[in-house]
Amino acid sequence: MADIIQLLPDHVANQIAAGEVVQRPASVVKELLENAIDAGATHIKLIIKDAGKTLVQVIDNGKGMSVTDARLSFERHATSKIRSADDLFQLNTKGFRGEALASIAAIAHVELKTKQEDDEVGTCIVIEGSTVESQEVVVTPKGTSLSVKNLFFNIPARRNFLKSNAVETRHIIDEFHRVALAHPSIGFVMYHNGSETFNLPESNYRQRIVNIFGAKTNEKLVPVNEDTEVLKISGFVGKPEFAKKTRGEQFFFVNDRFIKSAYLNHAISSAFDGLLKGGTHASYFLNLTVNPQTIDINIHPTKTEIKFDDEHTLYAILRSAVKHSLGQFNIAPILDFDRDANLDTPYSYEQKGAPSVEVDRSFNPFQEEKTSRSVSNSYKKEPVANWESLYVGLESKGTQTQSDFSEVQFESEENNTSIFESVNQVEHKQSTYQFHNKYIVSTIKSGLLLIDQHRAHQRVLYEDFLKSLTVKEAMSQQLLFPLQLHFSPQEIEIINQLKNDLEHTGFIFKTIRGELVEITGVPVMVPESEVSIILEQLISDVENEVPDTHFSATDLLAKSMSKSLAIKTGQNLTTVEQEYLVNSLFACKEPNVSPANRTTFITMTVDELDKKFV
Ligand code: ADP
Ligand code: MG
Repeated sequence: MADIIQLLPDHVANQIAAGEVVQRPASVVKELLENAIDAGATHIKLIIKDAGKTLVQVIDNGKGMSVTDARLSFERHATSKIRSADDLFQLNTKGFRGEALASIAAIAHVELKTKQEDDEVGTCIVIEGSTVESQEVVVTPKGTSLSVKNLFFNIPARRNFLKSNAVETRHIIDEFHRVALAHPSIGFVMYHNGSETFNLPESNYRQRIVNIFGAKTNEKLVPVNEDTEVLKISGFVGKPEFAKKTRGEQFFFVNDRFIKSAYLNHAISSAFDGLLKGGTHASYFLNLTVNPQTIDINIHPTKTEIKFDDEHTLYAILRSAVKHSLGQFNIAPILDFDRDANLDTPYSYEQKGAPSVEVDRSFNPFQEEKTSRSVSNSYKKEPVANWESLYVGLESKGTQTQSDFSEVQFESEENNTSIFESVNQVEHKQSTYQFHNKYIVSTIKSGLLLIDQHRAHQRVLYEDFLKSLTVKEAMSQQLLFPLQLHFSPQEIEIINQLKNDLEHTGFIFKTIRGELVEITGVPVMVPESEVSIILEQLISDVENEVPDTHFSATDLLAKSMSKSLAIKTGQNLTTVEQEYLVNSLFACKEPNVSPANRTTFITMTVDELDKKFV
């Protein structure tokens, strides 16, 4: 039989390699930004069109390439960064595999323009699907410009796999943030579809964080510094009270490289033990410097995971360094010598006139329950009034008040007469009981009814929000003083997108400018103190939008707000509150499931109960 093994042609091998290196436009962004940094650039421009599907271009002022290098850079395993395997353990460059450009050129239309400082003219090479289309002499400034157009043009399956523009853009911005945070001394600008989305001048680390995440971030940061023989730590953690519901702002850099490490992340969360409200995550921006010989970066193709020789020691040092910083912040004012005078004055300083350091001396981690339950507290103080406010807007359902509660029916119920124990209603005896501050137990004619209070209330609020969103005439409560909230530029963009819909729920925006949002009215059912939490939750829901499902802004908004506002598990409810909730649930169009499609109530018939008493 004839031999059957053949060597794959280069362009096929490159396409296969590309599958590993380039998953989406954001992968191209990462590789090109890293090449620019390795080339010693001090200023880097990132230009994106259509979430990178049409164009990803990186322009740097680095050292450029010679004519021969320009051509060679697209060959597989062509790299100027390592010469032998030993070099792998002395790495101080981002790249070393020599695969990125070859892979990218195999699956896109690529144009490279590059010039070295001392050369009169530069080189322009056009490559499409690994085929060199042209190579010319060009006039171009010192440095390199690499444009990647029509990614995956020759692999339609991969192109179809790309997510919505919103999702792909978020991945690109994530990569951009990571690279920009690791290199505050390099200036970065990013344009998307012709408008400038980030402009990050060269600065110190604190300023870089603030320039990315918004001026308000400045007052949230607690410096962490530690210098030991095996590990040097510098950077910041976020104060516990600013912890977010999402894990968005968590960054480890090891030797200037962004990495993910669940183990080190655990070191931080254990340092925060007892200081965080349930379900929130501390922010951190930490640079770890270790001897390059003690790490192995080669274990992951996209290089966001690395192996440490002595993880346990790193864990312990990291944890104690963070604990130490938090301790300092709790008991003594932090004098931040690091603060740059050019930095904007945080807004709280403006209001107080003279600069002061905010220290919460009464801070007690064990009081967590009390402080984090501000919502439930307010219910307890004035249960009826506040409870009712949750029902404003439900007037149309007003006919179904307690008196004809008995007529509410289950679809499954054949019996046409009252299913609730009418006796209870008439005599105003208690018809519901709260169980474990979680379930409401009630009786129906055929047996027992068990309602999950959190899910049930979500359903009620969700249908209510949907209605206001479609009818577009929700009621607002005017605020006496406009509420000023600060967001990062990225978050502002999302708020702008949702502005119309938010207005239909009852929000009134006075200004959305820079990083500031001023709100003069809020939906009637939204307590002022909850507004920032609601918006934060909403932004994170939009950012994490599941791209494959049918995306409707209205639906997402209603879901997110009902999730934020619904009474929580663990919250004590008065009998009146319980009854209102049961009423409103069964006045809903789809009482059986929560907006997230989870069961809201179960029933247990007398028969079923009888069987248990054998
Ligand atoms: P690697 O970065 O792993 O070496 P790449 O395929 O990304 O592999 O790049 C191949 C080579 O091309 C690099 O080693 C470098 O010499 C050169 N190169 C790539 N991008 C640039 C750039 N922006 N400026 C100067 N040289 C570059
Ligand atoms: Mg590279």
